[in-house]
Amino acid sequence: MGVGFDNLTKSEFTARAESMLHNGERGYVVTPNAEIVYESIHDDGFRALLNGASMVLPDGAGVVLGAKILGTPIREKVAGIEFGEEVCRILAKNQGRLYLLGSKPGIAKAAGEKLAEKYPGLTICGTADGYFKDEQAVIEKINAARPDVLFVCLGAPKQEKFMKEHFEELEVTLMLGLGGSLDGYAGVAQRAPRWMIDMSLEWLYRLLKEPKRLGRMMRLPKFVAACAGRKLRREHHG
Ligand code: UDP
Repeated sequence: MGVGFDNLTKSEFTARAESMLHNGERGYVVTPNAEIVYESIHDDGFRALLNGASMVLPDGAGVVLGAKILGTPIREKVAGIEFGEEVCRILAKNQGRLYLLGSKPGIAKAAGEKLAEKYPGLTICGTADGYFKDEQAVIEKINAARPDVLFVCLGAPKQEKFMKEHFEELEVTLMLGLGGSLDGYAGVAQRAPRWMIDMSLEWLYRLLKEPKRLGRMMRLPKFVAACAGRKLRREHHG
């Protein structure tokens, strides 16, 4: 549907992140789910932001299903929230520094405390909430903290715009756009039970927990229909 996902496994994505950090190779990572891909179909600028990333992770069962319908299967779903933890593990091993940006006041700090406890060796060098007015002040604060990695958790497309627009100014090796992950790390938003994740039902859990997401989540069947439509048109035109 116009988004170039990297067809790697979670451990391959992790190895790539490790090598980028090791070599000081700069980049930003995006983690689009089906709703986000659906949004990008009608927004050339946003699609370019996604495709301009160093790594594009298939975040969600919807993306895996869409890829299958289109005849370009993806090996596995790689959730941004899990990849973020893999990056914490790498940083912990190498005494690396992580900055957390996003979510409501207090959440990034709480997420930082949980992550530092879970990954001894990891330094949380700073946190800031995602409801700032002055972008330049935030950028200066981040640079002063000298992070190796920055988690940008402002929701899509705000986080992708932030990473791309300020890529040159931000003195960080790797930036990850991770949506609502800080709420997850802080324990504010709980993930679905493992069996639901394994049965590709995480979307249902989120819908039951937050019924106001229904409007947004209607993009999921629309996305699947759009994939099927494209596949049929392709076959029709030989
Ligand atoms: N958020 C933020 N600043 C904003 C808008 C949203 O920091 O101006 C945060 C919000 O608090 C939440 C996250 O961004 O923690 C978006 O979460 P969501 O689950 O909607 O992410 P997505 O599904 O878009 O990845």
